[in-house]
Amino acid sequence: MVRTNNRIRVLSWKKQPLGLELRVSKTVMAHPQDIASVVLKNDPKAWARLKALHMGKRAESRRSVHAPVGQAHDLLPLCILALRFVPEIPTPPPLRWGNWPARAPRRRIQLGACDGVGIRVHPVLDHDSVPDFVLEVLLHHELLHLAIPPKVVGGRRVIHSRVFRHRERAHPDYARSQAWEKAHISKLLQRTRAQG
Ligand SMILES: [Zn+2]
Repeated sequence: MVRTNNRIRVLSWKKQPLGLELRVSKTVMAHPQDIASVVLKNDPKAWARLKALHMGKRAESRRSVHAPVGQAHDLLPLCILALRFVPEIPTPPPLRWGNWPARAPRRRIQLGACDGVGIRVHPVLDHDSVPDFVLEVLLHHELLHLAIPPKVVGGRRVIHSRVFRHRERAHPDYARSQAWEKAHISKLLQRTRAQG
């Protein structure tokens, strides 16, 4: 039996000369009886149970993505570095890697966001090819949002004010990070689409 991390298929099998080649998703491994009923008797009830279980486990594992430690990068030490330039914020806010979007963007990608919970970073950046300074500058940008709240000027809400932009550019890696993003945006979009 082959155990898979396959996200789409719950179960698949192939008849081989010497028996059966079975692929089973980890999410349903603990239910051999239902697996046998599906394979041997094509039992629709067993199939429905396995599928429901699989979807539930998948949703669970998606939720657990919400942590600063990713596969390639840990956001906390990078945020601590970024905080050197934002003295108004004494301690790191809650940090987390976001979920992959249900529908991949075509041209633009929002790499970071600041919300009521804290700072969220797009999972496409949790990759070995992404340098630390890109994440640090991104976190710096989001921290500045916490330090410099939006202002209303002439009835318009200004999020990235002149002061904000000035502070953003003052980060020593700002220019290098902008250049990296520009050079890699199509790669990032491609990787995001590949997840969909
Ligand atoms: Zn912003």
